[in-house]
Amino acid sequence: MTLSLPLGSTIGIIGGGQLGRMLSVAASRLGFQCHIFEPGAEPPAGQVAQRVTTAAYDDESALRAFGNAVDLITYEFENIPTAALDLLQDLAPIHPGREALRVSQDRLTEKTFLQQLGLKTAPFADITDAASLEMALAEIGTPSILKTRRFGYDGKGQARITAPEDAAQALADMQGAPSILEGFVDFSHEVSVIAARGLDGAVAAFDPGENVHSDGILRTTTVPARLSASQRTDAVLIAAQVANALNYVGVLGVELFVTPGGLIVNEIAPRVHNSGHWTQNGCAVDQFEQHIRAITGWPLGDGQRHADVVMENLIGDDMERVPDLAKTPDCALHLYGKAETKPGRKMGHVNHVKRA
Ligand code: AMP
Repeated sequence: MTLSLPLGSTIGIIGGGQLGRMLSVAASRLGFQCHIFEPGAEPPAGQVAQRVTTAAYDDESALRAFGNAVDLITYEFENIPTAALDLLQDLAPIHPGREALRVSQDRLTEKTFLQQLGLKTAPFADITDAASLEMALAEIGTPSILKTRRFGYDGKGQARITAPEDAAQALADMQGAPSILEGFVDFSHEVSVIAARGLDGAVAAFDPGENVHSDGILRTTTVPARLSASQRTDAVLIAAQVANALNYVGVLGVELFVTPGGLIVNEIAPRVHNSGHWTQNGCAVDQFEQHIRAITGWPLGDGQRHADVVMENLIGDDMERVPDLAKTPDCALHLYGKAETKPGRKMGHVNHVKRA
């Protein structure tokens, strides 16, 4: 077998959070080196990668040095400034590619793309001012959610509109950022599919997980998810359709709402995903290794689920439970090495494993 990226090559990872950290560990297990580019000091990924560049995303000379030092570039988050990518793409291949970033960086572009594929989304409208919001509310109705088009994550940049009177406050909450109004989807539960597409176009998907959020932050992912056989197939096919349409290379997450009328796509994440962390203890090859395999040209690995798993995020003070969790059978702890515990901060996760 020939592998397209020689062993010992260096993978550049943009972003040094926990996803970058777990990608680095997986890359290292396969014989690659990692170089992290991260503006923040002491990134969690820096503790496990071979090299770290601490510099801003507009520091051209640091970006150039990073691009020249690595053989391949990937990333752990989607909000990378376009100018940084423009500079880097001439220095090393970037996987997943620009199209995936372009589509997923902007909720309006993303929803339009999904609709063009024939997939179901919440009703949505582009909001630029009070007048467009009033018109959109007349059409979409309430309850609905106003979201910033860009830079939203973990429920940030969102305002619920339960009655038309809430519109002015919701618009003020957007602080002038271009926004999108989404009709509220009356779902029974949320699931996500973590899928991978290789350099050769092969597609594989992990078993869909069922996600519980509170305050916009993922709390738990449970596998198997409550889905009928046809819903499960449908979920996987949706992820494959998205991956193929984007000519995607790497792992992606597709978040879905389960409704009586079928699966509705909430959003796509062009990266490894928090709701895929269960794969670390539920599959022979987890989402992090699968991503490294996909972008380096290895064959995709065996992601078949061999256990039932509940992944629970350890957020803020949940860290106080670690001594107890460490004593609990069938608990696999994954801690991110973050020095400071803050409310709402993801500090680690635990996979509760029940062997099938
Ligand atoms: P997002 O940042 O878009 O993934 O939203 C975070 C969470 O808010 C989702 O996982 C849902 O629980 C909820 N949410 C977002 N958009 C909608 C919607 N259109 N209808 C109902 N719930 C939503």
